[in-house]
Amino acid sequence: METRATCPYCGVGCGVLIEHDGGRIHSVRGDPEHPANFGRLCTKGSTLHLTARPETRLLYPELRSVRGEPRRRVGWDEAIGSAAERFADVIARHGPDAVAFYISGQLLTEDYYVFNKAMKGLIGSNNVDTNSRLCMSSAVAAYKQTLGADAPPCAYEDFAHADCLLIAGANPAYAHPVAFRRIEDAKKARPGMKIIVVDPRRTDTASAADLHLAVLPGTDIWLYDAMLHVLLAEDLVDHAFVAAHTTGFDALREHVRTVTPEAAAQVCGVPAADIVTAARWWGGSPAAMSLWCQGLNQSAHGTHNGTALIALSLATGKIGRPGCGPFSLTGQPNAMGGREVGGLANLLPAHRDLGNPEHRAEVARLWVVDSVPEKPGLTAVELFRAAAEGKVKAIWIACTNPAQSLPELEVVREALQRCEFVVLQEAYRSTETAVFADLMLPAATWGEKEGTVTNSERRITHVNRALPPPGEARPDWRIVCDFARALGPLIGRPEAQCMFGYERVEAIFAEHAVSTAGRDLDITGLDYALLDAAGPQQWPFPAGADAADAAGRARLYADGRFATADGRARFVVPVHATTVERVDARYPLHLNSGRLRDQWHGMSRTGKVARLYSHVDEARIELHADDLAENGVASGDLVKVASRRGEIVLRAVASGEVRRGQAFVAMHWGRNVLNSGGVNVLTAGDFDPYSKQPELKHAAIRIDRIDLP
Ligand code: SF4
Repeated sequence: METRATCPYCGVGCGVLIEHDGGRIHSVRGDPEHPANFGRLCTKGSTLHLTARPETRLLYPELRSVRGEPRRRVGWDEAIGSAAERFADVIARHGPDAVAFYISGQLLTEDYYVFNKAMKGLIGSNNVDTNSRLCMSSAVAAYKQTLGADAPPCAYEDFAHADCLLIAGANPAYAHPVAFRRIEDAKKARPGMKIIVVDPRRTDTASAADLHLAVLPGTDIWLYDAMLHVLLAEDLVDHAFVAAHTTGFDALREHVRTVTPEAAAQVCGVPAADIVTAARWWGGSPAAMSLWCQGLNQSAHGTHNGTALIALSLATGKIGRPGCGPFSLTGQPNAMGGREVGGLANLLPAHRDLGNPEHRAEVARLWVVDSVPEKPGLTAVELFRAAAEGKVKAIWIACTNPAQSLPELEVVREALQRCEFVVLQEAYRSTETAVFADLMLPAATWGEKEGTVTNSERRITHVNRALPPPGEARPDWRIVCDFARALGPLIGRPEAQCMFGYERVEAIFAEHAVSTAGRDLDITGLDYALLDAAGPQQWPFPAGADAADAAGRARLYADGRFATADGRARFVVPVHATTVERVDARYPLHLNSGRLRDQWHGMSRTGKVARLYSHVDEARIELHADDLAENGVASGDLVKVASRRGEIVLRAVASGEVRRGQAFVAMHWGRNVLNSGGVNVLTAGDFDPYSKQPELKHAAIRIDRIDLP
């Protein structure tokens, strides 16, 4: 039999059909009816069935009472009871801000919703943040600063209508492969379409472009400002659109007056003529859209990277029409769903803002609680720094692996050591974070749980359960609700029984949908039955909307009215800054990190599939051949790679993709693969002031050859 679900990897959100016998998954195939992929899957998605291996799973709760001792198997009642007692004890001694949840863009929307409600509505703290902070929070801040709402205004079908596609800080050929196939199809169908790629590396995506701008790390803003300079100089700005639908253009025009292509070329390290060409292609194309991801987001000025790019769409009126608009790709399968339910330290459900008293009151009414705390919670890097300083004393981690994926890993490890109580809710037995867990709770995973996800183009899919979870594993939402009901009476909140009394997961979705009434993402017209009958739907989908009529949903702002108070989009004058950490004589190389084609995140899942190593089979650092020679290293030698924070050992290989002075290491390899740890031993925790997203894309490093005896 076949069960409909989605791929649990990237934000493309491909539909999959799981072929199974009710006890074992036999194969997967792309869902031909899913609008994200129309039957296609990439190498990762098409091998999903090979990841369903019970021997790698955490099958029952494990608890230890004393640090350093092995965990012992316990029943669910003891596990949940112990967690509730330990959290209640910390809250009683130190207050609610001494506990925290750190969750994941791989959870389903319903899981996210109850985690958020448990921390903000029950415990009384806003300390709930997510690994999505590392992924797209700069794009969220950029959308809100310019368009007024966290709403990607485009759809994948726009690729087929674009005359010019500017791909910035993204490598969809590897990271969003099925979306990239759609871009390739669009180019084949319309060979005149211009593809511009902005990326320090010559990735597979860059190789397929008509123009590759290999900017130096951290210099993107100069490039987009210089493009705007050219658009103004060559009268390619849509002045009527700017006058009717935007504010702040005069200040930005003044700001870019001196940012000539020649000036930007000096900073960005690309030819001035190429900047002019890019601007002319953009401005001269009837339809142009941008596509961006971590290369812009994972920066200490990631928000302004985004606003500078969005300004190109606004200045030329290329938004709200087919083939137009600024389109942020999400890295994870449900980062969008997490944003929708407000599962971050500074947000509230349905895109409400924590800093808005009316929004807090609305959410308190929805949850039937007296109030929602006003003080912003700790964001990812802040949270682990606070734990390392002893300010956060109990942490609950779900479906993510911070001991590999966060920057400044030594701080993260110190934090997890210092916490009095660490809970890890996880599907897999062995992750870097599991070493630190006092309580491990077995969670259901892909193919074993029901709920919804939202992909990069705002499309909500109902995912179904093919099999029961193995052993004693349970769905994430149920674990959270059991914990909340156990904790409530211990902290004087007996109403938790009612607040978390959901009997079915769909009841959580229904409450989430109610929370969106009248908001930009209104989905009051959606329920599981409609999603099953009519297929995945883009939001907004208010009550009464017709699933057969996608007009007004595929792309937003078609009427020129934006989600700001006055309905006008805003131009933002960006700060000109490069990377926080500078290269110098001791650390002369820029380290960049990113994805491989066939691996996903920390490899808990893809690392179990032998064939996914056929593309790249071991951890390595890629450098320009001249940099290898200058350091006395031959391609294939082992090298010690050091930053100001730590060092790891890798095999060095010469690569034609990397410019002189730069290096690349894939993000996936961790302590399980390399004895010395992964790339985040090297990275720093500097973050963007608006989004709090850390600068994972850069660290200053040096390499030293290791002479084996
Ligand atoms: Fe999964 Fe993304 Fe590949 Fe689609 S493109 S199959 S969502 S990894």
